[in-house]
Amino acid sequence: MSNVGVIYRVAGPVVTAIGISPRMYDVVQVGKEKLMGEVIKIVGDKSIIQVYENTSGLTPGEPVENTGKPLVVELGPGLLSSVYDGIQRPLPVLRDKMGDYILRGVTAPGLDRAKKWDFEPIVKKGDTVSSGQAIGTVMEGTMPTKIMVPIGISGKVEEIKKGSFTVEETVAVIGGEKVTMMQKWPVRNPRPVQQKFLPDIPLITGQRVLDSVFPIAKGGTAAIPGGFGTGKTVTQQQLAKWSNAEIVVYIGCGERGNEMTEVLSEFPHLEDPKSGNPLMNRTVLIANTSNMPVAAREASVYTGMTIAEYYRDMGYNVSLMADSTSRWAEAMREISSRLEEMPGEEGYPAYLAGRLSEFYERASRCRTLCGEEGSISVIGAVSPPGGDLSEPVTQNTLRIVRVFWALDTKLRERRHFPTINWLTSYTLYDKQMRQWYVDNVAPDFPELREWAMQTLQKESELQEIVQLVGSDALPDEQKITLEVSRMLREIFLQQNAFHPVDTYCPMERQYTMLKLIRKYSDLAQKALAAGAQVSAIAGVPARLRFNKAKYEENVDEELAAVSKDMDAQFSALGA
Ligand code: ADP
Ligand code: MG
Repeated sequence: MSNVGVIYRVAGPVVTAIGISPRMYDVVQVGKEKLMGEVIKIVGDKSIIQVYENTSGLTPGEPVENTGKPLVVELGPGLLSSVYDGIQRPLPVLRDKMGDYILRGVTAPGLDRAKKWDFEPIVKKGDTVSSGQAIGTVMEGTMPTKIMVPIGISGKVEEIKKGSFTVEETVAVIGGEKVTMMQKWPVRNPRPVQQKFLPDIPLITGQRVLDSVFPIAKGGTAAIPGGFGTGKTVTQQQLAKWSNAEIVVYIGCGERGNEMTEVLSEFPHLEDPKSGNPLMNRTVLIANTSNMPVAAREASVYTGMTIAEYYRDMGYNVSLMADSTSRWAEAMREISSRLEEMPGEEGYPAYLAGRLSEFYERASRCRTLCGEEGSISVIGAVSPPGGDLSEPVTQNTLRIVRVFWALDTKLRERRHFPTINWLTSYTLYDKQMRQWYVDNVAPDFPELREWAMQTLQKESELQEIVQLVGSDALPDEQKITLEVSRMLREIFLQQNAFHPVDTYCPMERQYTMLKLIRKYSDLAQKALAAGAQVSAIAGVPARLRFNKAKYEENVDEELAAVSKDMDAQFSALGA
């Protein structure tokens, strides 16, 4: 058994070594420059390694050393507002060391070793504590965070300090073990929790089509597949800014050369609308630019997920966005082809589905080991080539996630934003969350939602007839249905992410708006029965006012006024 061997073969990001006897997923140092890699396959005496850095110039015969440890992330104060690569190297530090091009063999720790944090203990000497329990608190910028007993340690608190410490200094001695504010965790293993809850509470995002029509549960999973330019990134950023999750983990896998650079330059400037502080104060950004090695991209989703779990463990709600998971799947495909594995559909490895489900399964709402309730909601963008949803990454993702937000190129052409198609999207959480809406929004909310969806469904059926014979041929009642569904689309479903008022719509206002469209529908049918003309009903001034209300500073007053106007104007029509 030896820890040092040699390179046998180099194939792009995949290196074969002989002379070491690692376990699967051991981290190894490859070549004279000690490039970091991970053992991903063992065949006889050959260890197959994916290398996280550019392997050009590596040659057979160079040394390979097994560290005997899995790939870990460092967890502790200093994660928030960090920008990392896929293996938790801080990008700004790397850039300082070597400019814009990440050279090889350069390492920098995930957590700053010099920075001191004020540790405030919450347990006393003599207390007994167990794995995952909080022993103290630290302010990470503007966010209060917990320091938890590392998993695997428990026992009597023999010593507990208070004051200013670096992440490597001992703050407590528990059961004979020194505990620091930093702990490490292997990225490919989910962190343990006490108990998982049913997904029966929605993640509220302030986006009407999401919250009211296709909601994701707190701790749930959703996919946003869509072709280029359909709004995946805007949707993810809206969720990052507005959803009622305190912590954001954003894993960016650039689609085009410069796209990740955009995220890197944009994200740090996003404002947290709730506090006015930079959104980065409660964000961890993981960036894979297209000039970074594919293996780091493969690892990045696990790095991001482990960091998300760490904040969940403290009792935070975390929203984890991956944009886009297609780039992650492509990294798997590239590595698999280097391994000369039998390719599955479209060259993706046979284990694609398994990897995707392992990733999404780490989403949950749960009771954490420190007794708090925390959650990780996972929202993955998928960018199918040519917008073709039948391709393997989209199809496998849809089998796993429980919410599907189908972004639609045709809607984008019509400037209908968000481009979420209301006929093909779905949520499988609706039954479990129904009670929450009854208790927290309104008793009639589920029925109202049902009505809206049916009306939109009817519209699509009627439109087929209109295409054939024109709208004049429709009975008046159906003409009204078309007017109402148009209001549902234009007033309710369309929402401008860039408008200061419309960008966020609280749940109560979503209800008010739906209710008001329903009121219009009911009054319209009454007016029709009383002999009013369709043109008069469609043209009531209240409707115009309603169209504009969502953009007004005093939107809620406006909506109340629209309701009054409707009463007066429809009563003049005999309703
Ligand atoms: P993708 O990531 O799918 O390629 P983006 O998220 O970058 O697409 O969106 C492309 C463009 O569509 C945006 O720059 C913006 O102009 C428009 N857009 C998308 N969503 C919205 C929205 N909710 N409100 C207004 N404009 C939007
Ligand atoms: Mg994008």
